[in-house]
Amino acid sequence: MKALFYTGTQASEIRDTDAPVAATGETLVDLAFCGICGSDMHAWHGKDARRVPPLILGHEAVGTALNGPHAGKPVAINPLISCQKCDFCQSGHPQLCAARELIGMRLPGAFAEQVVVPDRNVTEIDAGLSFSDAALAEPLAVAVRTVRVAIAHTADPAARIVILGGGAIGLLCALVLKAYGRPHIRIAEPNALRRHRLDGLDIGESYDPVAMPAADSSADIVLDAVGSGITRMAASAIVRPGGIIVHVGLEDSEPGLDTRRFTLQDITFTGTYCYRPDDFAEALRLLTEGAVSGAGWTEIRDLDAGAQAFLDIHEGHAPPKIILATH
Ligand SMILES: [Zn+2]
Ligand SMILES: [Zn+2]
Repeated sequence: MKALFYTGTQASEIRDTDAPVAATGETLVDLAFCGICGSDMHAWHGKDARRVPPLILGHEAVGTALNGPHAGKPVAINPLISCQKCDFCQSGHPQLCAARELIGMRLPGAFAEQVVVPDRNVTEIDAGLSFSDAALAEPLAVAVRTVRVAIAHTADPAARIVILGGGAIGLLCALVLKAYGRPHIRIAEPNALRRHRLDGLDIGESYDPVAMPAADSSADIVLDAVGSGITRMAASAIVRPGGIIVHVGLEDSEPGLDTRRFTLQDITFTGTYCYRPDDFAEALRLLTEGAVSGAGWTEIRDLDAGAQAFLDIHEGHAPPKIILATH
């Protein structure tokens, strides 16, 4: 089969490779689409020690099951494979499983014509849901988890929410918040092109945090979808006393948190990683009902053009999400 291999720092190429074979309890999926994630870019930049080339990246995937309990049906893949036995798995938190794997990390990923995953990692999708929108289920599940944690802390629909970063995860968080009836959203995004795109989506107000840093500490909820020292510093400054910062980005590990202020002003800081199975199901529900879609911010390109897509994202010539058509 054809697959896009990450071959070394800032390099990838189409190669012909053996198609995977499903063992007992595994489903072979004939892939339709797979989105390029920020973590794929991180690997491509040579910054992810877990993703060693040559490797097929990609974990935001949909296609048709060729065998198993969903044979012949359109399916979305939950790429998080956990042990099912440890306390985290047993209590519904497989994203915390110490033995967890993700396709496209050590296991072969989905920038390919086919991939194999455990039967339990495929979910049939509604016939009315397009494959290209269903390919957003995985990053949307990340956003659902982030928003759910924020709302569990501050349920007020009138909450003032600031999202740091207008990339795919920040944008998806805004779409989820809008779907949940939270209209007071501001999105900090230094890139003018990205702000322009955000403004066309009617998901709140974008602003340039460099030219116009927020002046007061009034945000009930801050979602840091960048995760850099700079955004942690900004989040520390703009969250209100008693508010919450949910940290979902993984940009760098520089300092930036004002822990003294958190202590003196009862500010909650929490991270979120991936999603639980119910977050993934909720993401598919939002897509199936049309509450969230890729209209206006995603672009589909052919797998053959995948190497160029990585370059374009790197150089900033790309929309927040490129989805590769794998057939
Ligand atoms: Zn991802
Ligand atoms: Zn486990």
